[in-house]
Amino acid sequence: MTPPDTIFHKILRREISATVVFEDDEVLAFKDIHPKAPTHILFIAKKDADFVASIADLTDETAHVPALLIRKAQAFAKVHGIDGYQLKFHVGKAGGQEVFMLHLHFLSEQKLSS
Ligand code: 5GP
Repeated sequence: MTPPDTIFHKILRREISATVVFEDDEVLAFKDIHPKAPTHILFIAKKDADFVASIADLTDETAHVPALLIRKAQAFAKVHGIDGYQLKFHVGKAGGQEVFMLHLHFLSEQKLSS
């Protein structure tokens, strides 16, 4: 079976550039190329990411991945002094999902301080 290879996999491998705003061993966060709010960041998981295309594909083995993304988004908000934000997962084509590598949208009307 061919492994999934979306635009976000390419960003993770640094084959395509993105404005990275946070990175650690577990996640990469970068600015959405078509922001829907003054701050619009996408969080993706490094480990297990290849196996999770969407919330619809979660299993017991990968159920921790959304929680990881949410925790990292929460920490990111705190560091940047953002106290109001929306977290979204688009699920499936009918749910507005375009890129089939699990990702969390972080949107805020507040701008990033840096
Ligand atoms: P989805 O609808 O799949 O949940 O969200 C995919 C998001 O990825 C969209 O908001 C879209 O603007 C963003 N996006 C698509 N291609 C690129 C890209 O090449 N770079 C970045 N930074 N964002 C992208």
